[in-house]
Amino acid sequence: MGTIRLASPITKDSIVDGPGLRTVVWVQGCYHHCFMCHNPQTHCFSGGFDKDIDELVSEIVATKYQDGLTISGGEPFEKIDELCELLDKLAPYQINVWCYSGYTYAYLKNHPHKSRLLNKIDVIVDGKFEWKLRNFDLKYRGSSNQKIIDCRTGCELLLDE
Ligand code: SF4
Repeated sequence: MGTIRLASPITKDSIVDGPGLRTVVWVQGCYHHCFMCHNPQTHCFSGGFDKDIDELVSEIVATKYQDGLTISGGEPFEKIDELCELLDKLAPYQINVWCYSGYTYAYLKNHPHKSRLLNKIDVIVDGKFEWKLRNFDLKYRGSSNQKIIDCRTGCELLLDE
């Protein structure tokens, strides 16, 4: 039984972090420091609070009428062990999982440690937020370098059409 450092309590019924109504987990800590990041309070690794992972599982499972779970932050791929534990415990519930990351899919896929988490999620929205490439008309992301990728196939999902 472990803990995970979170930035805030879970969000329920989000409609901007993936398709449908989603529960969002906000992890604390990020090294990317994207210019004009929308969540700068999540950067410091000593900020936020420790959350018991079993309690987090219970809260997610108890949240009704959700189409899936989204992990955001902060940088989820700095919390590999914690999030692998969370997703292993959620596996019996067959929840659709999206995850945001400042790292690219190509980097994560070839990373010996971080790829463990990639293998447990359904869809990643990858890459840093690039202010010069910002486009707030895009679905589920803020800049045009960011891609929505099906982690099972490696194919980009084109959801803007
Ligand atoms: S990766 Fe996300 S949380 Fe981290 S600095 Fe960039 S936009 Fe902010």
